[in-house]
Amino acid sequence: MSSVAADDLKRSSQHLRGTIGDELAEETNAFGAEALQLLKFHGVYQQDDRDRRRELTQAKQELAYSCMVRASVPGGVLTAAQWAGIDDLADEFADGALRLTTRQGVQYHFVHKGELRALIAGLNRRLVSTYAACGDVVRNVMATTAPYLERDHERVRSLARALDTRFAPQSNAYWELWVDGERAVSATPAPVTEGGDDVEPLYGTTYLPRKFKIGIALPGDNSVDIFSHDVGIVPLGEGAVILAGGGLGRSHNDPTTFPRLADPVAWVPDDRVADVVEAIITVHRDFGNRDDRKHARLKYVIEDRGVEWLRSEIEQRAGIELDAVPELPSWGSPRDHLGWHAQTPGSDGAEQWFLGVAVPTGRLADAEGIRRRTAVRSILDTYADEIRLTPHQDLLLCGISTADKDAVEAILAEHNVPMASQLKLTVLSSMACPALPTCGQALGEAERVLPELTDLLDELLEQRNLAEVRIETRMTGCPNGCARPYVAELGVVGRTKTSYDLWLGGDPVGTRLATQAIEAVPFRKLGDALGPILDRFAADRSADEAFGDWVDRVGVDTAIADAPTFRVPGKKD
Ligand code: SF4
Repeated sequence: MSSVAADDLKRSSQHLRGTIGDELAEETNAFGAEALQLLKFHGVYQQDDRDRRRELTQAKQELAYSCMVRASVPGGVLTAAQWAGIDDLADEFADGALRLTTRQGVQYHFVHKGELRALIAGLNRRLVSTYAACGDVVRNVMATTAPYLERDHERVRSLARALDTRFAPQSNAYWELWVDGERAVSATPAPVTEGGDDVEPLYGTTYLPRKFKIGIALPGDNSVDIFSHDVGIVPLGEGAVILAGGGLGRSHNDPTTFPRLADPVAWVPDDRVADVVEAIITVHRDFGNRDDRKHARLKYVIEDRGVEWLRSEIEQRAGIELDAVPELPSWGSPRDHLGWHAQTPGSDGAEQWFLGVAVPTGRLADAEGIRRRTAVRSILDTYADEIRLTPHQDLLLCGISTADKDAVEAILAEHNVPMASQLKLTVLSSMACPALPTCGQALGEAERVLPELTDLLDELLEQRNLAEVRIETRMTGCPNGCARPYVAELGVVGRTKTSYDLWLGGDPVGTRLATQAIEAVPFRKLGDALGPILDRFAADRSADEAFGDWVDRVGVDTAIADAPTFRVPGKKD
């Protein structure tokens, strides 16, 4: 759908209603094209089983439609009771699995159209919302989530919630369609109304040109990849550094689309952070490209007009005089939240722990003899009071007493769930988007082939005595970048059904963009491409040098000099 058509649809949708209500009442398996676009604002994507698409098309049968439902979880924090509800609903309405997203949300897949209402109402009864989990609005606010003793996690948790509430869409459509007037017990606050009509003071009738992502990162933990967001917030002293203009999505063969890191814009005091963020959202709303959705992100506005221009817009819109930008603090080491860690004591002052449990590829299920989903539920039912979803698709089980640590480990062992220390570095340092068979944008596989990729990396690293080297690896089924491959040390980005582009040279903590290095490597030839690169790395690496730092030091051309040519970016076949 073109941007103009998308805006026309939003404008005529009666604030996100369109024909969704009528189509929900029909006994069909799929929604029409316009309802599909509006459903995204409600956290619902219609998909079809890509594995069956060809067979059904050839047989001239209807495609195997189902829906993906995404719950947003500001800052990734849920109570044990909320989790119990989320977990129960996976059996009732989805395929018995939950998918933890790279933006701290939870997704249900394979939900039938006829059961959407019951699922979404069920979530809202547990104070979990799907509103604005997708669509041209502010999406789920991400935040550093690991509640380390020495870190001010309560500060980022409450800021994530406050921003989520402030920037939530106000239209009544969500409650009318899904919650049947149960607004008092729903997850999102009551909307603003004037004389019974919807008002969207921030979004208006055409909402934003496209999505808008916010992340909050405590110094020392960049698990949210703070430079990849439209707005990044880094608490510092009695205020926060605000960054703006990050974004990773791009299209193949269109150099006018590109990943971009956010620029530091200003330091602002705590009581003005939300106002400044709102000012930046309105800049996106007013200046974002509404003619071309591929370019409708804030990053292109800032790339064109510059940070000084943005600062002046913020000053006018928020009525604030901005300070200079202080230097950002260091980010420490990557993802140190798995395993046991001391957390803030409970209200009675007793010692407490959180346990980080790795969930490879974010798929939380009972499968292949590993009953991870049941184990997590058992621990939460008895020993933990809170669960936190990390930006790397893992889980933190929180509020566990010292006396219960052994019992928790016993539950994991009983269900064959490995502790993080039992998993290979390649598994712990990789993530993938869902891609096939559910994502309609996917060009190739990601989640389903990630284990093959990590096995390959294990073999290649071991052969070169590099088994102790951790390479932050991200794989996606298309260039949209949902698993943030362009800030990884090794990005593997789907180009066709069977081939991938390699991106090299991000740093281990996500502060540098990777560079597109080799295009269209067939999946089966990834070892041929990566082997010579790792040979050079092994020979040339200085002590403890990270892979991405080495690529950055020697340059991508040198790093790939011995690799076979599939297609080097910018060169013809
Ligand atoms: Fe789908 Fe592409 Fe996002 Fe993967 S990166 S989930 S294939 S849109």
